[in-house]
Amino acid sequence: MTKSLEIIVCGAGITGLGAAIALKRKGHQVSVVEAASQLQEIGAGIQVPPNSSRILKSWGLESKFMAKVMWPKSVAIRRYATGEVIGRTKMNPILQDIYGFPYWFIHRADCQNILYDAAVEAGIQILLGTPIESVDEKGPTVKLQSGQELRADLIVGADGVRSRTRASALKEDVEALESSQCAYRATVPVDLMNSDPSLAHRMTDVNANLWLGPDGHIMGYPIRSGEMYNLVLVSPGKASVGKWNEPADVKEMRSHHANWEPTVQRLLSHVTTCLKWRLAYIPPLERWVSDNGRVVIIGDAAHAMLPLLSQGAAVSIEDGAALAECLDLVIDLVDLSLVLRAFQDLRKPRCETISKAALSLVDLWHLHDGPEQEGRDLKIKQDLINTVVEKTSDSKSSLDTMRDKLVPWMFGYDTVREVSVD
Ligand SMILES: Cc1cc2nc3c(=O)[nH]c(=O)nc-3n(C[C@H](O)[C@H](O)[C@H](O)COP(=O)(O)OP(=O)(O)OC[C@H]3O[C@@H](n4cnc5c(N)ncnc54)[C@H](O)[C@@H]3O)c2cc1C
Repeated sequence: MTKSLEIIVCGAGITGLGAAIALKRKGHQVSVVEAASQLQEIGAGIQVPPNSSRILKSWGLESKFMAKVMWPKSVAIRRYATGEVIGRTKMNPILQDIYGFPYWFIHRADCQNILYDAAVEAGIQILLGTPIESVDEKGPTVKLQSGQELRADLIVGADGVRSRTRASALKEDVEALESSQCAYRATVPVDLMNSDPSLAHRMTDVNANLWLGPDGHIMGYPIRSGEMYNLVLVSPGKASVGKWNEPADVKEMRSHHANWEPTVQRLLSHVTTCLKWRLAYIPPLERWVSDNGRVVIIGDAAHAMLPLLSQGAAVSIEDGAALAECLDLVIDLVDLSLVLRAFQDLRKPRCETISKAALSLVDLWHLHDGPEQEGRDLKIKQDLINTVVEKTSDSKSSLDTMRDKLVPWMFGYDTVREVSVD
């Protein structure tokens, strides 16, 4: 019979809360320790692809999400200088038809709040304002910054890109690799959008827009049931790694897109404040599990990735679901080590493949005008946007179409089934 474990999850981000819910549903005793004293309204809109909406639905959260999400029909890929639509990636209802689960847009804070409420409702103890100092695999114990020590059977590090769990218990002394890119996040309230005749239709026509330009891209879509238009603008810049709410200079943000098409200018003219964060990723780690198998890291702590495939939170939600499934095999504490290694073997290749693919998209999306950009746009026109591109060693940009492999594998992944067949 599966052993009910005492589990401490470090971090109440999307990963930690998701894992806590999945573990509790399996009958484990779960508590979460979170540094922030309250969940903050930070971050931007995030996309919830079918591989994660499948899991959220299985946790009984569909109606909660339905009240907050937008259902995009497509993403229009546009040329930065003219706004011309180069191509369209279809989303709903076609993705639901193909994969059985929808593609949603949601505000990151709404997603985190839904998970938080579900965790509390399930009886999970969440200790806010409780920063951890370190994790010791012996015990294993979590040492809080207050000096207090908490012991458990298993400690799950979901404490983000600058994970203390990773540094202390796994001795994985890695720094996130900082890309040269920075993401600015801004929102435009629906009233302002509606007061501008050139923008109003973007609130009701639920299509995302992705403008590709030299050294940057902009993703825009409505969120919060149409309360605001969400903008994520990626361009070269500096910000702190792992800090989601660093205030940014609006003028600086606008300056990166000064020569972009009129709609972009109209949108940016309505932005009064914005935040920024550094795009960073964790290189492939040697391991996610401590030597004695009592500490495991998941989510951004294990595989923070660039957001170009919109999969970071999705695969982090998968981590929690997969971990809970794997722990079904634990009959005795001595089994933990083996089971967690199996978890690691299942999850690491998937997350690292997606991370690598996201990284390879940066150069492609940010091409300067010229033959390579024209080649890319031609491929997009030919409906090959769902591709992942690799630069060849001779540095000629080759569009290596993986639409038929990578996208179905990302979106169609059934985490629970994968654990049972592995
Ligand atoms: C611009 C951008 C756009 C993105 N868009 C998408 C998207 O569309 N779709 C998608 O799936 N993903 C997207 N992602 C990725 C996604 O946001 C992340 O992968 C996901 O939020 C990571 O969640 P996490 O819980 O692992 O980490 P975090 O969100 O960083 O949470 C970690 C938590 O741990 C806590 N913590 C940290 N240190 C301590 C400590 N010492 N003690 C206690 N608690 C601690 C933190 O306070 C925090 O609450 C995007 C990322 C970026 C940067």
